[in-house]
Amino acid sequence: MATKDTSTRATTPSDGSAALRYGRVVVKAGTNVLTGGTDRLDKAMMGTLADQVAGMRKDGIEILLVTSGAVAAGREVLGLRPDQRGIPLRQTQAAVGQSRLMHAYESLFAQHGLVTAQVLVTRSDLTDRLGYLNARNTINALLELGVVPIVNENDVIGVEELAGETIGDNDHLSSLVASLVDADLLVLLSDIAGLFTADPHRFPDAQLISRVDRIDAGIEALAGRPEDSRGRGGMATKIEAARLATAAGVAVVIADGAEPDVLKKLEQGEEIGTFFPPAASKLESRKRWMLSAASRTGSVIVDAGAVEAVLGQHRSLLPAGVTGVEGSFGRGDIVPILGPDGERLACGIVNYSSEDVERIKGLRSDRIGDTLGVTYADEVVHRNNLVVL
Ligand code: GLU
Repeated sequence: MATKDTSTRATTPSDGSAALRYGRVVVKAGTNVLTGGTDRLDKAMMGTLADQVAGMRKDGIEILLVTSGAVAAGREVLGLRPDQRGIPLRQTQAAVGQSRLMHAYESLFAQHGLVTAQVLVTRSDLTDRLGYLNARNTINALLELGVVPIVNENDVIGVEELAGETIGDNDHLSSLVASLVDADLLVLLSDIAGLFTADPHRFPDAQLISRVDRIDAGIEALAGRPEDSRGRGGMATKIEAARLATAAGVAVVIADGAEPDVLKKLEQGEEIGTFFPPAASKLESRKRWMLSAASRTGSVIVDAGAVEAVLGQHRSLLPAGVTGVEGSFGRGDIVPILGPDGERLACGIVNYSSEDVERIKGLRSDRIGDTLGVTYADEVVHRNNLVVL
């Protein structure tokens, strides 16, 4: 994955072609955007969104859509009133609505010859080491195949009464996903044009803030408190999401989802909405994260050929290049990779436990299945899951 400088907005080159500054983009559309402020999903709005996402995909941008609307779609089908709330009502609505939501997207994207994939996540999928690895590997594989992953929280399973068990709102979810997949840009589509100096619904002379370099107490105060009847987000959750994503090296834009061609304009570098440049480089933030979470109980030792492949050519670490393991680790752990002399070269998320690596070390990848009875991947560490130190 190419690392791009996302600290400034894209600019349109003089030849008029779009500057593809953003290689991988997460777009989040909330309930308010998808319902146009009504009680039901606005299919025309969803169609416009799908057209724009498809346009970006065709321009070579890898794109993920984080969507709300399952609960709204379920409520519509079940004929429930918006004021009828609570659990398990919310969960039953989501169970009914999610498949309808996906069906709508599936047919809208099919019109552009694009395949979609439903990706439902729970909190533990993004916080447990194995869930994280699996979600990351699956989404990367989908993107490589040109599929558009459509992500939502698995509201049917998430019991929000258990504090800390759910992700809660899709602004938060989208920032976790953006960091999970190393996105270059997260676009939070909203029902207002960005962050304003005051609530634009109440103060007509409120000014749009076009760029926020640092999210400080003043910015938080402008965002106010989450208050929203249909979706769960508001400006406060968007600012929190922007804080998380920018810390992980992802640029963020909050823009009006109803603005015509909003995604195309962003792709072409138009200054719309509120832009938050990344607070760190992706590589730096990934390194920091890997180093802070690296296993202290085990490591992988590789031969000189693997050192050259991993360091020199940014390739994955294959079993053939592994000469041994030290200590123990589990599948999904972040593990230091040591050279023949024991020097620490890199850190990576391992696809196999220490026992398994011990058994497949030195083998060609096509022998993994015979040896272990299962092949999780051809690599011990995929290059997407590896940072050189
Ligand atoms: N996951 C919920 C849904 O699909 C929405 C959560 C949110 O809007 O933040 O209805």
